[in-house]
Amino acid sequence: MMWTRDEELYLQGVRQHLHQYPELSGQEKQTQAFLKKQCEGLPGLSIQEIAGTGLLATLDSGKAGPCILIRGDIDALPIQEINDFIHRSETDGVSHKCGHDGHATVLLGLVRLWTEKGLEKGCLHFLFQPAEEDGRGAAGVMAEHTKISPQPDKVYAFHNLPGYPLHQVVCRPGSFTAAADSILLELNGKTSHAAEPELGLNPALAMAEIIQAYQNLMIPDPANPSFQLLTPIYATMGEKSYGVSAGHASLHYTLRTWSNEVMASLKSHCESLAKQAADRHGLQLQLSYTESFFSNQNLPEAVKRIEAAAHSLSLKYEERPYPFKWGEDFGLLSQAYGGAMFGIGSGEDCPALHNPDYDFPDDIIETGVKMFDAILEGEFHAG
Ligand SMILES: [Zn+2]
Ligand SMILES: [Zn+2]
Repeated sequence: MMWTRDEELYLQGVRQHLHQYPELSGQEKQTQAFLKKQCEGLPGLSIQEIAGTGLLATLDSGKAGPCILIRGDIDALPIQEINDFIHRSETDGVSHKCGHDGHATVLLGLVRLWTEKGLEKGCLHFLFQPAEEDGRGAAGVMAEHTKISPQPDKVYAFHNLPGYPLHQVVCRPGSFTAAADSILLELNGKTSHAAEPELGLNPALAMAEIIQAYQNLMIPDPANPSFQLLTPIYATMGEKSYGVSAGHASLHYTLRTWSNEVMASLKSHCESLAKQAADRHGLQLQLSYTESFFSNQNLPEAVKRIEAAAHSLSLKYEERPYPFKWGEDFGLLSQAYGGAMFGIGSGEDCPALHNPDYDFPDDIIETGVKMFDAILEGEFHAG
């Protein structure tokens, strides 16, 4: 195969259908059913549900050989679409603003291509992964990893990249996306009469000290391997009740680093600074985390495959000087199995990810399918 005009139109139709009927993380029921229907009947393919609303399609030759997993995410975001094209989102307040409609479509194109080509040795898994945006999808897949049989030797995924020239391939060995985590602090003191704050435990000063201390931890230079970004997200304190001195506060931050090791040390710093501030002011501290993303650490050998694939397709290849600041839950899969993630340019004029006017460019569906195809040719045939 066999990139025909019919295939192009079919995949474009799939992409626009997915765009029209977006579903939030963990709720991808219709998306799952739709993709399952597209996969059913493809020669040699076995299909199982995974991580609730995901699908794992497997093409197994039954013979020894490489076992590769390709992942495409399928979830949408709680963002109101402002586009008015014909395939605009039919669901108020929900839309595909990260291009996962496109990622799922590329993966489906690859499934169709390789079921037609057939596999002489080894095994290929195609993972339609739900809930990437909240980090629960990859965790859900790993919780059911025994379903992925045989276990993969290597995993690959891509993300489309607005701001880069259309079709340009972007990658780098080592960190590709940031480790990202969200820290939630609850400071519990004691309310008192606003006229007698000394009789209560007001968290205001502890909060101010933590905000200042976290600011001092910043290492904002992206070229520094110890890069640390701490972003204040949310804060509350007390009530709008003017006779009462506040007795409770909450403070939420996101943390970003280039490596999982720096993240571990940043988290322990944040914990001890918050603890010290709480102790100084006699407050109880409750600390928790949410939406944790491991950094994607690209294996050099997998990056070489990606670069070779780009060259074989005469696509421009750029090695990024430093990682992207966003988190991607594929980091959990690449940490478990080894592999790499790469980017494909969505055009310099394409609105940024998570913007209300963003739309995945259909032009790069073919690029995505052909990139994975060339990577797999390398894995299965170039030895
Ligand atoms: Zn996103
Ligand atoms: Zn995304």
